[in-house]
Amino acid sequence: MFKIGDRVDHIEYGEGEIVSYNTEKDSATVSFNKEHLILAGKITDTDNYFEDNRVLEKTSFIEVHTATLDRVTNCYSCKKHLTSVSGPTCEKCKWIVCDCKACGCNYKKPKNVLNQV
Ligand SMILES: [Zn+2]
Ligand SMILES: [Zn+2]
Repeated sequence: MFKIGDRVDHIEYGEGEIVSYNTEKDSATVSFNKEHLILAGKITDTDNYFEDNRVLEKTSFIEVHTATLDRVTNCYSCKKHLTSVSGPTCEKCKWIVCDCKACGCNYKKPKNVLNQV
C-alpha cells in the first residue's frame, strides 16, 4: 500500500512523490521530478460516433498503476536512495542491502531519552 507523500520510483518515469491515490483503480497520481510526454484526454467511442481527444502533453503529474511503482527509502547509514529493485536483500532481516553494506542487522534504533531512568 502507498500513501500520499510517499517517495516512489517508477520503472519508466523515475522518482517522484504521490499526490493522490485511487484505491478503486489501484492507481496513484505522482508528481515526478522530471516532466514527461504522456497522452492526456480521452477517446469517445460509441456505435455511431468516434472522437479521439488525446493530445501529447508534457507534465510531471502522471497517473500510474501502483504495480509499476517502487517505494523509495533512504539508507540510514549513507542516506543514499534505495528501491526494492536496486539491490539484494539481507537473508536475516529482509532489508535491502545498500552499496555501503548497511542492512537492518546493524541498524541501531535511536534511544528514547525520556524512557531512560
Ligand atoms: Zn548506504
Ligand atoms: Zn541484515
